[in-house]
Amino acid sequence: MNLITHVLMGVLIQISFFIFFTFPFNFILTIIIAFLSHFIVDAFSKITYHTPEPHWDDKFWISWNISVRVSGYIAIILFLPYYLGMLFSNLPDLWDWTIVRRIQKRRNKDGKIDYHHNNFFHRMVDIIREKTLFWLPDWIYEKKAVIVEIIIIIALIIGIIVLIP
Ligand SMILES: [Zn+2]
Repeated sequence: MNLITHVLMGVLIQISFFIFFTFPFNFILTIIIAFLSHFIVDAFSKITYHTPEPHWDDKFWISWNISVRVSGYIAIILFLPYYLGMLFSNLPDLWDWTIVRRIQKRRNKDGKIDYHHNNFFHRMVDIIREKTLFWLPDWIYEKKAVIVEIIIIIALIIGIIVLIP
């Protein structure tokens, strides 16, 4: 899913574990659960508008992608004290899309990227989705499916408002 969704999930996880656990378990559990949350959240991206390729000719695609990116950056600044949860809930994206993709582009002479390469964390997402969420509809090209992600975002914001100290 998108940056804003992973950021809010990381914040909610850190808030929860820092309320209910003491040192060092609050730190350890935040790191582990925030990291794992990325795979669960991404596995559900099948029921959200999430085209694998960019559509620069489509105003809807551009508006949606700018909104989720910019709101993600704003959330990072607002919730800076919860950097640990935010960092680990976004780590698979940071690793795959900035580091591994860059290395692959440089290594492969034709500039092609092999997304099934073992170095990609997101291979795990595909496995989880195929093994457990195969029954969900595939809405990645359905524009109205942004509503699903918006509902998830609102639910996460409500959770944060309720729990934030
Ligand atoms: Zn991801």
